[in-house]
Amino acid sequence: MDNVLSKLKEFEPDSILTSTREFTKDKSEKKVNLSIGICCNEDGGLHVFKSVLEAEKLILEKNKEKPYLLSNGSKEFSILTQKLIFGENSEYMKEKRICTIQTIGGTGAIFIILEFLRGFNIESIYVTNIPYVNHVYMLKSFGFNVKYLNYFDPELIDINYELFLNDLRNIKNNSNILLQVCCYNPCSVDIEEKYFDEIADIVLKKNHLVIFDVAYQGLGNSDLGKDVLLIRKFQERKISFTVCQSFSKNMSLYGERAGALHIVCKNKTERQLLFNNLRMIIRRFYTSPIIHTNRIVCEVLKNEKLKSQWLKDLYELSERIKNNRFLFFDKLKYYQKKYNLNYDWDVYKKQKGIFSFIPIFGNIYMKLREYHIYIIDSGRINISGITKKNVDYIAEKICLCLSEL
Ligand code: PLP
Repeated sequence: MDNVLSKLKEFEPDSILTSTREFTKDKSEKKVNLSIGICCNEDGGLHVFKSVLEAEKLILEKNKEKPYLLSNGSKEFSILTQKLIFGENSEYMKEKRICTIQTIGGTGAIFIILEFLRGFNIESIYVTNIPYVNHVYMLKSFGFNVKYLNYFDPELIDINYELFLNDLRNIKNNSNILLQVCCYNPCSVDIEEKYFDEIADIVLKKNHLVIFDVAYQGLGNSDLGKDVLLIRKFQERKISFTVCQSFSKNMSLYGERAGALHIVCKNKTERQLLFNNLRMIIRRFYTSPIIHTNRIVCEVLKNEKLKSQWLKDLYELSERIKNNRFLFFDKLKYYQKKYNLNYDWDVYKKQKGIFSFIPIFGNIYMKLREYHIYIIDSGRINISGITKKNVDYIAEKICLCLSEL
């Protein structure tokens, strides 16, 4: 082992890890960590879903054994998770065209699809700019060239649709694109519905392969279906695509690693062939997914009472985050007067999900640490970590730091 360990090189941890490490060391009672992407409750702790707690109680009563699952999970898990993405009356589900496997979180779904695609001499995969940082790490580690589509425009604090659509049109036919549809991490702006038809037209014409990454369903819109409307549009237009789904945020199951990979096939026969191929990949890496996680997700989604409780909880959580976002930017408007600043904070109110992306905060992220406020260098902050108790302190200190720029 010495032989190997002596060759280790210094490793530069990313901004989230460094910020969280500094936060942990900070002894101040005022400290607040807005760098990490977790859903917090109004007291600043991790949000817990009542429905998930109840589901866990039920499954502990019902199940004593913990056998291996099939490598893909279970049929029940596949059907229940498909319904959330593809809809209750999904044509693809009726036609039994969706190959679903339970994965180790949303990251595991991305991992399996990338490992699968690696076997097909695919050189490059596109991400939208500014990308989710782990997409880039993962693509590079699989040896793909990472290419960028124009997406977020820091001047507009929005998507630059002209550039984005032009890129989609002008890249090579059969390109592979990793795309987020709701609560985009980090930019927090999602593609507007009025562009869905045009995007579907281009994808059909150019035969692009789109891999949707859905990590925040239910946290953007109160109606879960609305958060994946672009995916439903693709289904309506008979496009084949892939979805990486995560339950880390919308069930607060981070450590349980709940996720699914869905791949739309031509028909049932092709689906079977794909299943066999994916099973071989899973076998090589971890053999089978986690049974406790399977049971929790299934119990929440199949038990009518728990499902409506979950939807209610999710609605309340997303409303709270939305209200806190408004409150936070209103407080910035208020406190900036004290420092003679004149920023337009209203442009950020349309952002969605647990984050807000405020590029200018990238200039003060180190200064904010002096006040025990931890954010990352891109200016992305976790809005769910802002509460009625800490909002004044955070907003005032941000304005103070901005005034010193
Ligand atoms: N995709 C995006 C865009 C994310 O933001 C995250 C988590 O932060 C993931 C995927 C990974 O989700 P999981 O924790 O389920 O692996």
